[in-house]
Amino acid sequence: MQKSEIQIVWFKRDLRTIDHKPLFEASKTLKPILPIYVVENEYWKQPFSNKRHWCFIYDSLIELRKELKKLGQSLIVRIGSVTEIFNELSTQFKIISIYAHEETGNQWTYDRDLNVKKWSNRKNIPLIEYPTNGIVRNLKNRDDWSKIRNLRMKESLIPKPVSLMSIDEILEGSIPKKNSPIFKNDFNGEVQKGGRSEALKIIQSFINDRGQNYLFNISKPGISEKTCSRISPHLTWGTISSKEIIKLLNLNKINSQKNRSTINSRNLNAIKSRLSWRCHFIQKLESQPSIETSCMHPFYDKLRKDNMNLEYYKAWKEGLTGYPFIDACMRSLNHNGWITFRMRAMLVSFASYDLWLDWRKTGHHLAQTFTDYEPGIHYSQLQMQSGVTGINTLRIYNPIKQSMDHDINGKFIKKWVHELRNIPEIWIHEPWKMDLKTQENVNCLIGKHYPKPIVDHTTAIRNAKAKISSIFQKEGYRKKSNIVFEKLGSRKRTKSSKKRNTQLQLI
Ligand SMILES: Cc1cc2nc3c(=O)[nH]c(=O)nc-3n(C[C@H](O)[C@H](O)[C@H](O)COP(=O)(O)OP(=O)(O)OC[C@H]3O[C@@H](n4cnc5c(N)ncnc54)[C@H](O)[C@@H]3O)c2cc1C
Repeated sequence: MQKSEIQIVWFKRDLRTIDHKPLFEASKTLKPILPIYVVENEYWKQPFSNKRHWCFIYDSLIELRKELKKLGQSLIVRIGSVTEIFNELSTQFKIISIYAHEETGNQWTYDRDLNVKKWSNRKNIPLIEYPTNGIVRNLKNRDDWSKIRNLRMKESLIPKPVSLMSIDEILEGSIPKKNSPIFKNDFNGEVQKGGRSEALKIIQSFINDRGQNYLFNISKPGISEKTCSRISPHLTWGTISSKEIIKLLNLNKINSQKNRSTINSRNLNAIKSRLSWRCHFIQKLESQPSIETSCMHPFYDKLRKDNMNLEYYKAWKEGLTGYPFIDACMRSLNHNGWITFRMRAMLVSFASYDLWLDWRKTGHHLAQTFTDYEPGIHYSQLQMQSGVTGINTLRIYNPIKQSMDHDINGKFIKKWVHELRNIPEIWIHEPWKMDLKTQENVNCLIGKHYPKPIVDHTTAIRNAKAKISSIFQKEGYRKKSNIVFEKLGSRKRTKSSKKRNTQLQLI
């Protein structure tokens, strides 16, 4: 019997039907379409994956399936390896081509993509891939990047296909439940809701209301949860594209000129530039996939590698370091799966400089915890905040100053570090300075009910600075930095900032 012809549209981190070029182009061929999502069991065993990510994807897949069904062909979900599943489908159907987005993921997904490419070449099935957001594959020169990205963002949105030609056969394949044992690494706490309708709802509420004090509150934990856009997991898993968000923000600019909305142009420009940083950071991983596991500047590669203090690591990850603000931020993050930028940076700075932990290890805990885990931003930021890029100013956060600046009366600390809830405000940032009598009065003995600081910040930073300075002084350091800059650096760097790769900032 002759096999029926199909086109496969392979969904990965692009769980939408609007501004989805692979789906649109496949629909134009007027051949039956099989939209597929593969739950790759091996991926879900990796140290960066977590059930929290799956919970978000699950909501998004449910909506995507409904959306595709309305267009004429429901989504098929299969469990296993992509090549094995495509191979199995090729015994049942004549696959004419496979349509997908290019993915800038970690080494694991990159290797999987190479395997799929090899398989499709062997089978003579064209694998047609389209760029994702502003990321440029095989970029020749970093100088050209932002122009290409900005032009892409100006293009029109790709419409949802009018309809999809359905396949004749009925295929089995349901979406694994949120509590399925496939998802090995578990979490305790909550997950932001996934799905395209939610993406539209939150970006609209940000524009109409929540974003009025966006920049003012951006570094305040406990408040920024409500005033930041919170669009990040939607961008990570692709329920909406960057281009679509930019179009919605631009539309608001027109409306705001007519006094119809609340978000002003300063806040509007601030979020638009962050969307541009997003592509900028992901482009780094696209251009140099090794940054997932190797320092951008090779002189730093062995700096912390053999120095893993497991007790420190455990204390950091569980929010038991004895620094109230660090512990509150980590516990809040562990529970919610999100914390604002400055606090992410501070948590990494504390782990990398104060505790001298390797970013490769601490990065896995954060990757699992962030619902928005986006490899390109994640590894670039981890390296920047750990001072190993060779092209950025080294920023060392003081956990006490940050606490006093961003949680003045300790409200956020008291919410997340219950042990300290009865502590008088004057001691909340440095409870170890309380005299014993006060500790007894408030029933919080430091060292018993709440830990003493596991390291002394001043001493730890002095040691870290000495180790880092010894690297700056090595012969050939600057030459290597320039090579890193050529390939990965932001072209917004000014003349004075050229010295930054050896500058330290204590904040
Ligand atoms: C160590 C570290 C790890 C990080 N890991 C991730 C990650 O895995 N995934 C992720 O999406 N963001 C990551 N960030 C960047 C940033 O903290 C989050 O994008 C932001 O907090 C998400 O919240 P939001 O959507 O409300 O952001 P908003 O402030 O509302 O910004 C809108 C969008 O702009 C982008 N954006 C904002 N800040 C940055 C930034 N500094 N760099 C690049 N893009 C940015 C995001 O896509 C974000 O959704 C990391 C930052 C640090 C310091």
